[in-house]
Amino acid sequence: MQISTADTLAAINPATGEKMTEVKMTRVEEIKDIYVQSREAQRDWASKSIKDRMESFRRLRLEMVDRMEEIAEVISKSTGKVLTEAITADIMPTIDAIMHMEKYAERGLKRKKVKTPLLLIGKKSYVEWMPRGTVLIISPWNYPLNLAMVPVLSALAGGNSVILKPSEVTPLVGEIMAELFRGKGFPLHIVQVVQGGREVGEALTSAGADYIFFTGSVHTGKKIGEAAARNLIPSTLELGGKDPMIVFKDANLERAAKGAVWGAFTNSGQVCMSTERLYVEQSVYQEFLQMIKKETERIKHGASVDDDLGSMTSHSQKEILREQITEALSAGAILETGVHPEEWDESLFLPLMILTNVSPDMAIMKEESFGPVLPIMAFETMDEVIELANSTRYGLNASVWSGDMEKARMTAGRLLSGAVVINDVITSVANHHLPFGGVKESGIGRYHGEQGIQIFCHEKAVLEDSGKRRTEVQWFPYEGKYPLFIKLFKSYFGKRKNYLKFVDAYARLLKK
Ligand code: NAD
Repeated sequence: MQISTADTLAAINPATGEKMTEVKMTRVEEIKDIYVQSREAQRDWASKSIKDRMESFRRLRLEMVDRMEEIAEVISKSTGKVLTEAITADIMPTIDAIMHMEKYAERGLKRKKVKTPLLLIGKKSYVEWMPRGTVLIISPWNYPLNLAMVPVLSALAGGNSVILKPSEVTPLVGEIMAELFRGKGFPLHIVQVVQGGREVGEALTSAGADYIFFTGSVHTGKKIGEAAARNLIPSTLELGGKDPMIVFKDANLERAAKGAVWGAFTNSGQVCMSTERLYVEQSVYQEFLQMIKKETERIKHGASVDDDLGSMTSHSQKEILREQITEALSAGAILETGVHPEEWDESLFLPLMILTNVSPDMAIMKEESFGPVLPIMAFETMDEVIELANSTRYGLNASVWSGDMEKARMTAGRLLSGAVVINDVITSVANHHLPFGGVKESGIGRYHGEQGIQIFCHEKAVLEDSGKRRTEVQWFPYEGKYPLFIKLFKSYFGKRKNYLKFVDAYARLLKK
Protein backbone atom coordinates (compact mmCIF):
# COMPACT_ATOMS: atom_id res chain seq x y z
CA MET A 1 0.00 0.00 0.00
CA GLN A 2 1.38 3.44 -0.96
CA ILE A 3 0.59 6.37 1.24
CA SER A 4 -0.10 9.99 0.36
CA THR A 5 2.69 12.35 -0.72
CA ALA A 6 3.08 16.05 0.01
CA ASP A 7 1.02 16.90 -3.11
CA THR A 8 -1.43 14.04 -3.33
CA LEU A 9 -3.79 11.98 -1.25
CA ALA A 10 -3.85 8.26 -1.93
CA ALA A 11 -7.33 6.81 -2.42
CA ILE A 12 -7.05 3.39 -0.77
CA ASN A 13 -9.65 0.64 -0.77
CA PRO A 14 -9.48 -0.47 2.89
CA ALA A 15 -11.08 -3.83 2.15
CA THR A 16 -8.22 -4.83 -0.17
CA GLY A 17 -5.44 -2.40 0.74
CA GLU A 18 -5.21 -1.55 -2.97
CA LYS A 19 -4.41 2.03 -4.01
CA MET A 20 -7.12 3.05 -6.47
CA THR A 21 -5.69 6.40 -7.51
CA GLU A 22 -4.22 9.61 -6.21
CA VAL A 23 -6.06 12.87 -5.69
CA LYS A 24 -4.42 16.28 -5.88
CA MET A 25 -4.12 17.89 -2.49
CA THR A 26 -4.97 21.57 -2.04
CA ARG A 27 -1.93 23.67 -1.11
CA VAL A 28 -2.24 25.84 2.00
CA GLU A 29 -1.14 28.84 -0.13
CA GLU A 30 -4.26 28.44 -2.30
CA ILE A 31 -6.66 28.92 0.60
CA LYS A 32 -6.71 32.73 0.52
CA ASP A 33 -7.89 32.73 -3.12
CA ILE A 34 -10.42 30.01 -2.39
CA TYR A 35 -12.06 32.29 0.19
CA VAL A 36 -12.03 35.25 -2.24
CA GLN A 37 -13.72 33.14 -4.95
CA SER A 38 -16.18 31.79 -2.42
CA ARG A 39 -17.25 35.26 -1.32
CA GLU A 40 -17.78 36.35 -4.93
CA ALA A 41 -19.90 33.30 -5.73
CA GLN A 42 -21.98 33.85 -2.60
CA ARG A 43 -23.20 37.27 -3.74
CA ASP A 44 -24.63 35.76 -6.91
CA TRP A 45 -26.20 32.80 -5.10
CA ALA A 46 -27.73 34.91 -2.29
CA SER A 47 -29.44 37.12 -4.88
CA LYS A 48 -31.41 34.11 -6.18
CA SER A 49 -34.82 33.41 -4.72
CA ILE A 50 -35.17 30.32 -2.53
CA LYS A 51 -37.36 28.82 -5.28
CA ASP A 52 -34.49 29.18 -7.78
CA ARG A 53 -32.04 27.68 -5.31
CA MET A 54 -34.40 24.74 -4.80
CA GLU A 55 -34.59 24.18 -8.56
CA SER A 56 -30.84 23.52 -8.46
CA PHE A 57 -31.41 21.17 -5.51
CA ARG A 58 -34.06 19.30 -7.51
CA ARG A 59 -31.68 18.84 -10.44
CA LEU A 60 -28.95 17.67 -8.07
CA ARG A 61 -31.34 15.15 -6.48
CA LEU A 62 -32.35 13.73 -9.84
CA GLU A 63 -28.73 13.35 -10.92
CA MET A 64 -27.90 11.60 -7.66
CA VAL A 65 -30.82 9.22 -8.14
CA ASP A 66 -29.63 8.47 -11.70
CA ARG A 67 -26.05 7.89 -10.56
CA MET A 68 -26.90 6.10 -7.29
CA GLU A 69 -25.08 2.88 -8.14
CA GLU A 70 -21.94 4.64 -9.33
CA ILE A 71 -21.84 6.77 -6.17
CA ALA A 72 -22.40 3.68 -4.02
CA GLU A 73 -19.40 1.99 -5.68
CA VAL A 74 -17.17 4.96 -4.86
CA ILE A 75 -18.34 5.06 -1.23
CA SER A 76 -17.99 1.31 -0.81
CA LYS A 77 -14.48 1.21 -2.30
CA SER A 78 -13.41 4.24 -0.25
CA THR A 79 -14.69 3.04 3.12
CA GLY A 80 -14.82 -0.74 2.89
CA LYS A 81 -18.54 -0.79 3.72
CA VAL A 82 -20.87 -3.01 1.71
CA LEU A 83 -22.91 -1.50 -1.14
CA THR A 84 -26.19 -2.01 0.72
CA GLU A 85 -24.97 0.17 3.60
CA ALA A 86 -23.64 2.79 1.16
CA ILE A 87 -27.08 3.03 -0.42
CA THR A 88 -29.29 2.79 2.67
CA ALA A 89 -27.28 4.78 5.20
CA ASP A 90 -25.25 7.28 3.16
CA ILE A 91 -26.91 8.00 -0.19
CA MET A 92 -30.61 7.57 0.62
CA PRO A 93 -30.56 9.90 3.69
CA THR A 94 -28.75 12.51 1.61
CA ILE A 95 -31.33 12.40 -1.15
CA ASP A 96 -34.08 12.46 1.46
CA ALA A 97 -32.49 15.57 3.03
CA ILE A 98 -32.48 17.30 -0.37
CA MET A 99 -36.15 16.51 -0.86
CA HIS A 100 -36.90 17.74 2.65
CA MET A 101 -35.19 21.07 1.87
CA GLU A 102 -37.03 21.36 -1.44
CA LYS A 103 -40.27 21.10 0.56
CA TYR A 104 -39.45 23.12 3.68
CA ALA A 105 -36.58 25.58 3.00
CA GLU A 106 -38.87 28.34 1.84
CA ARG A 107 -41.05 28.02 4.94
CA GLY A 108 -38.02 27.89 7.26
CA LEU A 109 -36.53 31.07 5.81
CA LYS A 110 -39.74 33.04 5.53
CA ARG A 111 -39.95 36.35 7.39
CA LYS A 112 -41.70 35.49 10.68
CA LYS A 113 -44.05 38.03 12.25
CA VAL A 114 -43.91 38.11 16.06
CA LYS A 115 -46.11 39.89 18.62
CA THR A 116 -45.30 43.43 19.73
CA PRO A 117 -46.23 44.37 23.32
CA LEU A 118 -48.61 47.20 24.14
CA LEU A 119 -45.76 49.26 25.59
CA LEU A 120 -44.46 49.56 22.01
CA ILE A 121 -47.74 50.90 20.66
CA GLY A 122 -47.92 51.39 16.90
CA LYS A 123 -44.94 49.21 15.98
CA LYS A 124 -44.54 45.88 14.17
CA SER A 125 -41.91 43.20 14.73
CA TYR A 126 -40.57 40.33 12.71
CA VAL A 127 -37.61 37.98 12.32
CA GLU A 128 -35.66 37.62 9.10
CA TRP A 129 -33.00 35.13 8.04
CA MET A 130 -29.94 36.48 6.27
CA PRO A 131 -27.12 34.32 4.87
CA ARG A 132 -23.97 34.37 6.98
CA GLY A 133 -21.63 34.43 3.95
CA THR A 134 -18.99 31.74 3.49
CA VAL A 135 -19.41 28.56 5.52
CA LEU A 136 -16.55 26.16 6.21
CA ILE A 137 -17.61 22.51 6.52
CA ILE A 138 -15.19 19.84 7.71
CA SER A 139 -16.40 16.25 7.54
CA PRO A 140 -15.32 12.71 8.56
CA TRP A 141 -14.90 9.45 6.68
CA ASN A 142 -17.52 7.13 8.18
CA TYR A 143 -20.51 8.43 6.17
CA PRO A 144 -18.41 10.51 3.80
CA LEU A 145 -21.27 11.61 1.56
CA ASN A 146 -24.09 12.31 4.00
CA LEU A 147 -22.09 14.02 6.74
CA ALA A 148 -20.65 16.41 4.17
CA MET A 149 -23.61 16.91 1.83
CA VAL A 150 -26.34 17.57 4.42
CA PRO A 151 -24.53 20.52 6.07
CA VAL A 152 -23.34 21.74 2.65
CA LEU A 153 -26.89 21.74 1.29
CA SER A 154 -28.33 23.31 4.45
CA ALA A 155 -25.80 26.15 4.17
CA LEU A 156 -26.53 26.56 0.44
CA ALA A 157 -30.28 26.62 1.02
CA GLY A 158 -29.69 29.57 3.37
CA GLY A 159 -27.89 31.50 0.60
CA ASN A 160 -24.30 30.84 1.66
CA SER A 161 -21.27 29.69 -0.28
CA VAL A 162 -19.41 26.66 1.05
CA ILE A 163 -15.85 25.54 1.40
CA LEU A 164 -15.90 21.82 2.11
CA LYS A 165 -12.97 19.85 3.44
CA PRO A 166 -13.93 16.20 3.32
CA SER A 167 -11.88 13.58 5.12
CA GLU A 168 -8.48 12.79 3.65
CA VAL A 169 -9.30 9.11 4.23
CA THR A 170 -12.00 9.14 1.51
CA PRO A 171 -10.78 11.66 -1.11
CA LEU A 172 -12.67 10.05 -4.02
CA VAL A 173 -15.97 10.81 -2.32
CA GLY A 174 -14.74 14.42 -2.12
CA GLU A 175 -14.09 14.35 -5.87
CA ILE A 176 -17.55 13.06 -6.67
CA MET A 177 -19.17 15.72 -4.47
CA ALA A 178 -17.21 18.48 -6.25
CA GLU A 179 -18.48 17.11 -9.55
CA LEU A 180 -22.10 16.98 -8.37
CA PHE A 181 -22.11 20.74 -7.78
CA ARG A 182 -20.96 21.57 -11.32
CA GLY A 183 -23.73 23.15 -13.43
CA LYS A 184 -27.45 22.72 -12.55
CA GLY A 185 -27.67 26.45 -11.77
CA PHE A 186 -25.03 26.29 -9.02
CA PRO A 187 -22.65 29.22 -9.68
CA LEU A 188 -18.97 28.43 -10.22
CA HIS A 189 -17.12 28.26 -6.86
CA ILE A 190 -20.35 28.15 -4.82
CA VAL A 191 -19.11 24.85 -3.36
CA GLN A 192 -15.35 24.37 -3.39
CA VAL A 193 -13.98 21.04 -2.26
CA VAL A 194 -10.60 21.37 -0.61
CA GLN A 195 -8.66 18.12 -0.40
CA GLY A 196 -6.24 17.59 2.45
CA GLY A 197 -5.72 16.53 6.02
CA ARG A 198 -5.17 18.19 9.38
CA GLU A 199 -2.83 20.90 8.13
CA VAL A 200 -5.23 22.03 5.42
CA GLY A 201 -8.10 21.86 7.93
CA GLU A 202 -6.20 24.08 10.39
CA ALA A 203 -5.38 26.61 7.68
CA LEU A 204 -9.02 26.74 6.57
CA THR A 205 -10.24 27.16 10.14
CA SER A 206 -8.10 30.23 10.73
CA ALA A 207 -8.77 31.85 7.33
CA GLY A 208 -11.90 33.80 8.24
CA ALA A 209 -15.02 31.72 7.54
CA ASP A 210 -18.32 33.24 8.65
CA TYR A 211 -19.45 29.94 10.18
CA ILE A 212 -17.75 26.61 10.86
CA PHE A 213 -19.64 23.33 10.83
CA PHE A 214 -17.54 20.40 12.01
CA THR A 215 -18.29 16.71 12.24
CA GLY A 216 -15.61 14.46 13.69
CA SER A 217 -13.87 13.43 16.88
CA VAL A 218 -14.07 15.20 20.24
CA HIS A 219 -10.30 15.73 20.10
CA THR A 220 -10.43 17.67 16.81
CA GLY A 221 -13.73 19.31 17.72
CA LYS A 222 -12.15 20.93 20.77
CA LYS A 223 -9.32 22.33 18.64
CA ILE A 224 -11.77 23.71 16.11
CA GLY A 225 -13.97 25.13 18.87
CA GLU A 226 -10.93 26.92 20.33
CA ALA A 227 -9.88 28.33 16.94
CA ALA A 228 -13.42 29.47 16.21
CA ALA A 229 -13.79 31.09 19.64
CA ARG A 230 -10.51 33.00 19.20
CA ASN A 231 -12.01 34.76 16.18
CA LEU A 232 -15.60 34.75 17.50
CA ILE A 233 -16.74 32.61 14.58
CA PRO A 234 -20.00 30.82 15.40
CA SER A 235 -19.80 27.06 15.00
CA THR A 236 -21.59 23.75 15.27
CA LEU A 237 -19.64 20.77 16.55
CA GLU A 238 -21.02 17.28 15.85
CA LEU A 239 -18.74 14.92 17.77
CA GLY A 240 -18.38 11.37 19.05
CA GLY A 241 -20.62 9.16 21.13
CA LYS A 242 -20.70 6.19 23.51
CA ASP A 243 -24.35 5.37 23.10
CA PRO A 244 -26.05 3.17 25.70
CA MET A 245 -28.78 0.66 24.92
CA ILE A 246 -31.04 -0.30 27.82
CA VAL A 247 -33.04 -3.52 27.61
CA PHE A 248 -35.75 -4.08 30.24
CA LYS A 249 -37.02 -7.61 30.87
CA ASP A 250 -40.43 -6.79 29.34
CA ALA A 251 -38.95 -5.81 25.94
CA ASN A 252 -39.57 -7.81 22.77
CA LEU A 253 -36.29 -9.67 23.26
CA GLU A 254 -36.07 -11.11 19.78
CA ARG A 255 -36.39 -7.65 18.24
CA ALA A 256 -34.06 -6.13 20.83
CA ALA A 257 -31.37 -8.75 20.10
CA LYS A 258 -31.52 -8.06 16.36
CA GLY A 259 -31.52 -4.29 17.07
CA ALA A 260 -28.52 -4.55 19.41
CA VAL A 261 -26.46 -6.51 16.89
CA TRP A 262 -27.33 -4.18 14.00
CA GLY A 263 -26.86 -1.07 16.17
CA ALA A 264 -23.45 -2.24 17.35
CA PHE A 265 -22.06 -3.67 14.15
CA THR A 266 -23.55 -1.82 11.17
CA ASN A 267 -20.76 -0.07 9.25
CA SER A 268 -18.39 -2.18 11.41
CA GLY A 269 -19.41 -0.11 14.44
CA GLN A 270 -18.02 3.06 12.88
CA VAL A 271 -21.12 5.11 13.53
CA CYS A 272 -21.20 8.08 15.88
CA MET A 273 -24.53 6.65 17.12
CA SER A 274 -23.46 3.00 17.30
CA THR A 275 -24.73 0.99 20.20
CA GLU A 276 -21.51 1.07 22.20
CA ARG A 277 -22.72 -0.16 25.61
CA LEU A 278 -25.48 -2.64 26.32
CA TYR A 279 -27.27 -2.81 29.68
CA VAL A 280 -29.66 -5.73 30.15
CA GLU A 281 -32.00 -6.32 33.09
CA GLN A 282 -30.53 -9.05 35.28
CA SER A 283 -33.42 -11.54 35.04
CA VAL A 284 -33.13 -11.80 31.21
CA TYR A 285 -29.38 -11.17 30.93
CA GLN A 286 -28.23 -14.74 30.25
CA GLU A 287 -31.03 -15.43 27.79
CA PHE A 288 -30.35 -12.15 25.96
CA LEU A 289 -26.62 -12.80 25.82
CA GLN A 290 -27.24 -16.14 24.08
CA MET A 291 -29.62 -14.43 21.64
CA ILE A 292 -27.16 -11.73 20.59
CA LYS A 293 -24.33 -14.26 20.29
CA LYS A 294 -26.48 -16.26 17.90
CA GLU A 295 -27.42 -13.17 15.87
CA THR A 296 -23.78 -12.09 15.72
CA GLU A 297 -22.59 -15.45 14.48
CA ARG A 298 -25.00 -15.17 11.54
CA ILE A 299 -23.41 -11.99 10.15
CA LYS A 300 -21.58 -12.50 6.87
CA HIS A 301 -18.40 -10.51 6.23
CA GLY A 302 -17.46 -9.82 2.62
CA ALA A 303 -17.71 -7.44 -0.30
CA SER A 304 -20.67 -8.80 -2.27
CA VAL A 305 -24.17 -7.33 -2.35
CA ASP A 306 -25.41 -10.23 -0.25
CA ASP A 307 -22.85 -9.77 2.50
CA ASP A 308 -23.78 -7.95 5.70
CA LEU A 309 -20.54 -6.29 6.67
CA GLY A 310 -17.52 -4.98 4.87
CA SER A 311 -14.21 -3.99 6.35
CA MET A 312 -13.36 -1.25 8.82
CA THR A 313 -12.05 1.89 7.19
CA SER A 314 -8.93 2.88 9.05
CA HIS A 315 -5.98 1.12 10.62
CA SER A 316 -5.65 3.80 13.30
CA GLN A 317 -9.21 3.04 14.47
CA LYS A 318 -8.33 -0.67 14.62
CA GLU A 319 -5.41 0.21 16.91
CA ILE A 320 -7.72 2.14 19.28
CA LEU A 321 -9.92 -0.96 19.47
CA ARG A 322 -6.93 -3.22 20.05
CA GLU A 323 -5.89 -1.10 23.01
CA GLN A 324 -9.37 -0.91 24.56
CA ILE A 325 -10.10 -4.64 24.17
CA THR A 326 -6.67 -5.72 25.39
CA GLU A 327 -7.03 -3.52 28.47
CA ALA A 328 -10.52 -4.89 29.20
CA LEU A 329 -9.43 -8.52 28.77
CA SER A 330 -6.45 -8.09 31.02
CA ALA A 331 -8.74 -6.58 33.67
CA GLY A 332 -11.01 -9.64 33.60
CA ALA A 333 -13.42 -9.09 30.70
CA ILE A 334 -14.53 -12.20 28.79
CA LEU A 335 -14.58 -12.45 25.01
CA GLU A 336 -17.91 -14.12 24.13
CA THR A 337 -17.46 -13.91 20.34
CA GLY A 338 -14.60 -12.87 18.07
CA VAL A 339 -10.87 -13.25 18.41
CA HIS A 340 -8.30 -12.03 20.96
CA PRO A 341 -6.42 -8.96 19.59
CA GLU A 342 -3.14 -10.92 19.74
CA GLU A 343 -4.53 -13.18 17.02
CA TRP A 344 -5.93 -10.52 14.70
CA ASP A 345 -4.54 -10.61 11.16
CA GLU A 346 -3.44 -7.61 9.09
CA SER A 347 -6.78 -7.06 7.36
CA LEU A 348 -9.46 -4.55 8.29
CA PHE A 349 -12.14 -7.27 8.38
CA LEU A 350 -12.30 -7.49 12.14
CA PRO A 351 -14.20 -10.30 13.90
CA LEU A 352 -17.25 -9.07 15.81
CA MET A 353 -16.56 -8.99 19.51
CA ILE A 354 -19.03 -9.26 22.37
CA LEU A 355 -17.51 -8.69 25.80
CA THR A 356 -18.95 -9.59 29.20
CA ASN A 357 -17.66 -9.18 32.75
CA VAL A 358 -16.87 -5.55 32.00
CA SER A 359 -16.99 -2.67 34.49
CA PRO A 360 -17.81 1.05 34.14
CA ASP A 361 -14.22 2.14 34.77
CA MET A 362 -12.86 0.28 31.72
CA ALA A 363 -12.13 2.40 28.63
CA ILE A 364 -14.33 0.02 26.62
CA MET A 365 -17.30 1.21 28.74
CA LYS A 366 -16.51 4.91 28.83
CA GLU A 367 -14.53 5.93 25.73
CA GLU A 368 -15.75 5.83 22.12
CA SER A 369 -14.66 2.55 20.46
CA PHE A 370 -15.92 3.21 16.91
CA GLY A 371 -15.50 -0.39 15.88
CA PRO A 372 -17.16 -3.83 15.97
CA VAL A 373 -17.22 -4.43 19.71
CA LEU A 374 -20.18 -4.64 22.09
CA PRO A 375 -19.62 -4.75 25.86
CA ILE A 376 -22.57 -5.87 28.03
CA MET A 377 -23.48 -5.40 31.67
CA ALA A 378 -26.48 -6.49 33.72
CA PHE A 379 -28.54 -4.08 35.84
CA GLU A 380 -31.17 -4.43 38.56
CA THR A 381 -33.12 -1.17 38.76
CA MET A 382 -34.15 1.74 36.55
CA ASP A 383 -32.27 4.25 38.73
CA GLU A 384 -29.11 2.17 38.54
CA VAL A 385 -29.18 1.82 34.75
CA ILE A 386 -29.92 5.51 34.22
CA GLU A 387 -26.94 6.42 36.35
CA LEU A 388 -24.75 4.00 34.39
CA ALA A 389 -26.04 5.28 31.03
CA ASN A 390 -25.39 8.90 32.02
CA SER A 391 -21.93 8.22 33.43
CA THR A 392 -19.75 8.95 30.37
CA ARG A 393 -18.56 12.29 28.97
CA TYR A 394 -20.65 11.68 25.83
CA GLY A 395 -24.35 12.14 25.09
CA LEU A 396 -25.23 11.69 21.43
CA ASN A 397 -27.90 9.01 21.17
CA ALA A 398 -29.33 6.21 23.32
CA SER A 399 -31.98 3.54 23.06
CA VAL A 400 -34.51 2.16 25.52
CA TRP A 401 -36.30 -1.15 24.99
CA SER A 402 -39.48 -2.08 26.83
CA GLY A 403 -43.04 -3.24 26.19
CA ASP A 404 -44.20 -0.69 28.76
CA MET A 405 -44.20 2.62 26.84
CA GLU A 406 -44.67 4.68 30.00
CA LYS A 407 -41.56 3.16 31.53
CA ALA A 408 -39.62 3.55 28.28
CA ARG A 409 -40.62 7.22 27.97
CA MET A 410 -39.80 7.91 31.60
CA THR A 411 -36.35 6.36 31.15
CA ALA A 412 -35.79 8.26 27.89
CA GLY A 413 -36.73 11.49 29.66
CA ARG A 414 -33.96 11.00 32.24
CA LEU A 415 -31.14 10.21 29.80
CA LEU A 416 -28.54 12.92 29.18
CA SER A 417 -28.55 12.54 25.43
CA GLY A 418 -29.15 14.58 22.28
CA ALA A 419 -31.60 11.91 21.09
CA VAL A 420 -33.24 8.75 22.38
CA VAL A 421 -34.83 6.00 20.31
CA ILE A 422 -37.44 3.74 21.89
CA ASN A 423 -37.53 0.11 20.73
CA ASP A 424 -35.19 0.89 17.82
CA VAL A 425 -31.64 2.19 17.34
CA ILE A 426 -30.00 5.07 15.47
CA THR A 427 -33.09 5.93 13.38
CA SER A 428 -33.84 9.30 15.02
CA VAL A 429 -31.21 10.69 12.65
CA ALA A 430 -33.30 9.59 9.68
CA ASN A 431 -36.21 11.91 10.49
CA HIS A 432 -35.35 15.37 9.26
CA HIS A 433 -38.14 16.90 11.30
CA LEU A 434 -36.12 16.02 14.44
CA PRO A 435 -33.12 18.08 15.58
CA PHE A 436 -29.78 16.27 15.46
CA GLY A 437 -26.80 16.86 17.76
CA GLY A 438 -25.21 15.93 21.06
CA VAL A 439 -24.95 17.05 24.66
CA LYS A 440 -21.85 17.09 26.90
CA GLU A 441 -18.74 16.28 24.82
CA SER A 442 -20.81 14.89 21.95
CA GLY A 443 -21.13 18.38 20.62
CA ILE A 444 -22.58 21.84 20.53
CA GLY A 445 -25.52 22.87 18.34
CA ARG A 446 -28.19 21.11 16.31
CA TYR A 447 -28.98 20.68 12.64
CA HIS A 448 -31.48 18.94 10.32
CA GLY A 449 -34.87 20.32 9.39
CA GLU A 450 -35.74 24.01 9.24
CA GLN A 451 -33.46 24.72 12.18
CA GLY A 452 -30.63 23.08 10.23
CA ILE A 453 -30.93 25.78 7.58
CA GLN A 454 -31.51 28.63 10.03
CA ILE A 455 -28.21 28.00 11.87
CA PHE A 456 -26.43 29.08 8.68
CA CYS A 457 -28.26 32.42 8.75
CA HIS A 458 -28.12 35.52 10.89
CA GLU A 459 -31.35 35.64 12.82
CA LYS A 460 -32.21 39.28 12.40
CA ALA A 461 -34.77 41.03 14.59
CA VAL A 462 -36.57 43.89 12.82
CA LEU A 463 -38.82 46.37 14.59
CA GLU A 464 -40.75 48.75 12.41
CA ASP A 465 -42.42 52.09 13.16
CA SER A 466 -44.46 53.94 10.55
CA GLY A 467 -42.42 57.07 11.35
CA LYS A 468 -45.51 59.28 11.45
CA ARG A 469 -45.53 60.25 15.14
CA ARG A 470 -43.62 63.34 16.29
CA THR A 471 -41.72 61.64 19.14
CA GLU A 472 -41.51 58.64 21.52
CA VAL A 473 -42.46 58.70 25.19
CA GLN A 474 -39.02 57.63 26.45
CA TRP A 475 -37.08 60.18 24.35
CA PHE A 476 -35.80 63.52 25.75
CA PRO A 477 -36.87 65.75 27.44
CA TYR A 478 -37.61 63.91 30.71
CA GLU A 479 -39.07 66.92 32.51
CA GLY A 480 -42.40 66.06 34.17
CA LYS A 481 -42.36 62.47 32.88
CA TYR A 482 -41.25 60.52 35.98
CA PRO A 483 -44.65 60.39 37.79
CA LEU A 484 -46.36 59.59 34.50
CA PHE A 485 -44.03 56.64 33.91
CA ILE A 486 -44.80 55.37 37.44
CA LYS A 487 -48.52 55.55 36.64
CA LEU A 488 -47.98 53.90 33.23
CA PHE A 489 -45.95 50.98 34.56
CA LYS A 490 -48.17 50.41 37.62
CA SER A 491 -51.25 50.28 35.43
CA TYR A 492 -49.48 47.91 33.00
CA PHE A 493 -47.49 45.57 35.26
CA GLY A 494 -49.47 45.81 38.50
CA LYS A 495 -51.83 43.34 40.15
CA ARG A 496 -54.85 44.84 38.43
CA LYS A 497 -54.29 46.10 34.94
CA ASN A 498 -55.96 49.44 34.38
CA TYR A 499 -56.24 50.11 30.69
CA LEU A 500 -57.83 53.58 31.07
CA LYS A 501 -55.02 54.77 33.36
CA PHE A 502 -52.46 53.28 30.95
CA VAL A 503 -53.89 55.15 27.94
CA ASP A 504 -54.16 58.39 29.89
CA ALA A 505 -50.54 58.24 31.12
CA TYR A 506 -49.32 57.29 27.65
CA ALA A 507 -51.16 60.17 25.94
CA ARG A 508 -49.83 62.69 28.46
CA LEU A 509 -46.30 61.38 28.07
CA LEU A 510 -46.53 61.78 24.31
CA LYS A 511 -47.50 65.42 24.66
CA LYS A 512 -44.45 66.29 26.80
P1 NAD B 1 -11.37 13.46 12.93
O1 NAD B 1 -11.71 14.41 14.01
O2 NAD B 1 -10.07 12.78 12.97
O3 NAD B 1 -11.43 14.20 11.50
C1 NAD B 1 -12.58 14.84 11.04
C2 NAD B 1 -12.17 15.88 10.01
O4 NAD B 1 -11.39 16.89 10.65
C3 NAD B 1 -11.31 15.35 8.87
O5 NAD B 1 -11.73 15.98 7.68
C4 NAD B 1 -9.91 15.80 9.26
O6 NAD B 1 -9.05 15.98 8.18
C5 NAD B 1 -10.20 17.13 9.92
N1 NAD B 1 -9.18 17.60 10.88
C6 NAD B 1 -8.38 16.85 11.66
N2 NAD B 1 -7.64 17.66 12.46
C7 NAD B 1 -8.01 18.94 12.17
C8 NAD B 1 -7.63 20.23 12.66
N3 NAD B 1 -6.71 20.35 13.62
N4 NAD B 1 -8.22 21.33 12.14
C9 NAD B 1 -9.17 21.21 11.18
N5 NAD B 1 -9.57 20.02 10.67
C10 NAD B 1 -8.99 18.90 11.16
O7 NAD B 1 -12.58 12.42 12.86
P2 NAD B 1 -12.71 11.15 11.90
O8 NAD B 1 -11.75 10.11 12.38
O9 NAD B 1 -12.70 11.56 10.49
O10 NAD B 1 -14.21 10.68 12.22
C11 NAD B 1 -14.55 9.87 13.29
C12 NAD B 1 -15.10 10.68 14.44
O11 NAD B 1 -16.20 11.48 14.01
C13 NAD B 1 -15.68 9.81 15.55
O12 NAD B 1 -15.31 10.34 16.79
C14 NAD B 1 -17.18 9.93 15.36
O13 NAD B 1 -17.94 9.69 16.50
C15 NAD B 1 -17.30 11.33 14.89
N6 NAD B 1 -18.55 11.51 14.15
C16 NAD B 1 -19.52 12.30 14.69
C17 NAD B 1 -20.73 12.44 14.02
C18 NAD B 1 -21.85 13.31 14.54
O14 NAD B 1 -22.70 13.66 13.75
N7 NAD B 1 -21.89 13.66 15.81
C19 NAD B 1 -20.94 11.77 12.82
C20 NAD B 1 -19.92 10.95 12.33
C21 NAD B 1 -18.72 10.85 12.99
